[in-house]
Amino acid sequence: MATTIQPQAEAKPATALSNEEILRYSRHLIMPEVGMEGQLKLKNAKVLLIGTGGLGAPLGLYLAAAGVGRLGLVDFDVVDFTNLQRQVTFGTSDVGKYKSEAARIRLSNLNPDIHIDSFETQLTSANALELFKDFDIIVDGTDNFPTRYLVNDACILLGKPNVYGSIFRFEGQATVFGMPDGPCYRCLYPEPPPPGLVPSCAEGGVLGVLPGIVGSIQAMETIKLILGRGDNLVGRLLLFDALAMKFRELKLRKNPNCPMCGPHRTIHQLIDYYEFCGVRGEEAPEPNVQVPEMTPRELKSRLDRGDDLFILDVREPHEYQICNLKGALIPLGELPRRVHELDSSREIVAHCRSGKRSAEAVDFLRKAGFRKIHNLKGGILAWSDEVDPSVPKY
Ligand SMILES: [Zn+2]
Repeated sequence: MATTIQPQAEAKPATALSNEEILRYSRHLIMPEVGMEGQLKLKNAKVLLIGTGGLGAPLGLYLAAAGVGRLGLVDFDVVDFTNLQRQVTFGTSDVGKYKSEAARIRLSNLNPDIHIDSFETQLTSANALELFKDFDIIVDGTDNFPTRYLVNDACILLGKPNVYGSIFRFEGQATVFGMPDGPCYRCLYPEPPPPGLVPSCAEGGVLGVLPGIVGSIQAMETIKLILGRGDNLVGRLLLFDALAMKFRELKLRKNPNCPMCGPHRTIHQLIDYYEFCGVRGEEAPEPNVQVPEMTPRELKSRLDRGDDLFILDVREPHEYQICNLKGALIPLGELPRRVHELDSSREIVAHCRSGKRSAEAVDFLRKAGFRKIHNLKGGILAWSDEVDPSVPKY
């Protein structure tokens, strides 16, 4: 579902506001620090939001409301019920829709005068530079380490500011990376944490209001960068503890040995950030693993023909309870120690929800010597779309 990036004809910068816009932005216009000049800067600004989830919600809402003239929204994910506790861009009726598109519709309704592009794609090393190049400021609202390093490196390579925020449980951080004299994410964190050491929000939880506060700080920093006003967070890491209701600040210095922004740069192009962070599984994008695939329609016709196929479901038991293809259940994480339960002489079709985890499983099994094995393309979601709509999607 990747949206093709259309090269935008370079529009002439706006030099005036309509009467409607003057009314809409009047609370900005009457402040000398913004005024007509500042509002036109906002109108001519192009900001790319990476992620439209928890941090992306206040970011999108406030930047659209403030009149940032062009917003790009990058997210490959779909709204689910667990998002609604904090991702306030979305309503219950958005569940199941692509986040970037649902956010585009919501923000267009908030401010029809701005241009919004939604990119239903996962940010990868292959598309990041192309996506970033049309925007002035990149705002990182993601929740995983590979994407943070990717956003950082792409911003440094292109010389673009990276407005950073992160949240976990009751604590948040924000700063601005990628400015000429300031540090980058790699100056602060030269190495990613060992995989699995830092739990994600899905594993560790997050208090609903927290992304609202941290994302709002990112939105404020973005607007200040556009206006060229005030002291921004370059070289300062703002730490917020919601339980103590305390803000602290850490001074950040540029690391002279930084492989990305130091004087002796050793990284000159984007790398495989999933490998760099040691992350595998559902989080990794599909292109990392190339495995033989079978489409849902192919599987259906082979089953109808009576072919002897062994269906391997690598999801978790609670997912199996939601829906299943009557396959044998061996969760991906248990596969290495339960591989002996599988018969390598039989033809196996592995599946999960979307086809990502099962691609890992097929890759693993092929390395273990299985030859007659396929990945069900698009997983049970595609099965529901293409073969049997009575199978619920989740
Ligand atoms: Zn650096």
